[in-house]
Amino acid sequence: MKLLVIGCGGVASVAIRKCAKADDIFTDILIASRTKSRCDELVASIKDGTRARLSTAKVDAENVEELKSLIKAFAPAAVLNVALPYQDLTIMRACLESGVHYIDTANYECEDTNDPVWRKRYEQRVREKGFTAYFDYSYQWEMHAEFKKAGLCALLGSGFDPGVTQVFCAYAQKHYFDEIETIDILDCNGGDHGYAFATNFNPEINLREVSANGSYWENGKWIETSPLEIKREYNFDGVGVKDMYLLHHEEIESLAKNIKGVKRIRFFMTFGQSYIQHMNCLKDVGMLSTEPVDFGGVKIVPIQFLKTLLPDPASLGPRTKGKTNIGCIFTGKKDGKKKSLYIYNICDHQECYKEVRSQAISYTTGVPAMIGAALVATGVWRKAGVYNCEQFDPDPFMDALTKYGLPWKTEENPVLVD
Ligand code: NDP
Repeated sequence: MKLLVIGCGGVASVAIRKCAKADDIFTDILIASRTKSRCDELVASIKDGTRARLSTAKVDAENVEELKSLIKAFAPAAVLNVALPYQDLTIMRACLESGVHYIDTANYECEDTNDPVWRKRYEQRVREKGFTAYFDYSYQWEMHAEFKKAGLCALLGSGFDPGVTQVFCAYAQKHYFDEIETIDILDCNGGDHGYAFATNFNPEINLREVSANGSYWENGKWIETSPLEIKREYNFDGVGVKDMYLLHHEEIESLAKNIKGVKRIRFFMTFGQSYIQHMNCLKDVGMLSTEPVDFGGVKIVPIQFLKTLLPDPASLGPRTKGKTNIGCIFTGKKDGKKKSLYIYNICDHQECYKEVRSQAISYTTGVPAMIGAALVATGVWRKAGVYNCEQFDPDPFMDALTKYGLPWKTEENPVLVD
């Protein structure tokens, strides 16, 4: 199979290393990104350990015609988009018009939140649905009919969360429950990189997500909270006790649609006090703003400037020690009896670094991205249309998680989150 990978940042480098190792599936991999030198450096560091033919190209993933020329010249079976959510729609459009399958790890976000067309639609969605996050699935879901007609598959959100967490939901639904009533997704990073403040993946996307209002789904509607308003403590296997905060997260939207009868879905992520203090301070002084400001006659976007000052997430690998624990706690019924279940993965930052020279956040995203690409490219997960991860048979994905480095555990009757 030929695979075109777009983007060559922290997540992409893990996905590409894993694809290159799976050279029984991927015979040719073209890595295309905005900065070609990063692709060349990555290829130089892995080319001797794989039979796959690796090549690189420069591409602006916001330019559909440029993408189409690249796809036409390389003729891949699928495109794995591990660039930024801003490019989802242009890459999907290019795939549609070129007749290839599509996989990504994060839902579409508009970079320019002042764009009047986008803002009008955003305001209408806030009125109708009630959550104010800048991202939602509607833009990608509305391409379903076009993908279906073209006989192409678009797999959305094949990272860890979104991604594996939804596969866990489908697995719980298939093997453990007749009815799932509640889902709590818990994302714990017990790693320490030694910096007072750094983000584990793209700072712009990460800080926008964490500093925004939280929200959860209950009894058929969204309930919104102030940023980090809801805090809980949880004792994570392999990590210990951590504070975690309720966030809005994109997979809640698709799970609410696809897990029939679910009454409540929440998402919690752990943060240390230092992270929160720094983030609040940066937010208070306007450094998280996406609005351009005039600085000495030059327009700069504060959060983009901040990104240039912060450590590159891809550089955290050698410094980060500790483990992540990410999973889902389910409550519901089986054979008329109440039951609860926790499915989770523990991942060790240093082990990841030893294997792929990245910390566990990039690893836990890059491995499922590679698995999603492999399942779509080989036809194991392939339906014409636009789909989220919980809409496929979870078993092949669960097997692949164990095979490719993210083994998971189940625990009956776990401690629940109040
Ligand atoms: P990085 O910022 O490290 O990498 C982004 C890459 O995209 C860079 O190589 C960048 O190029 C490239 N890029 C940006 N704009 C363009 C463009 N216009 N054309 C071509 N290439 C472009 O991000 P991460 O690796 O941290 O994150 C990648 C994706 O993974 C994001 O969408 C993120 O939201 C998602 N993610 C998903 C998670 C999940 O569990 N589902 C968890 C973590 C992240 P350049 O080198 O020039 O900057």
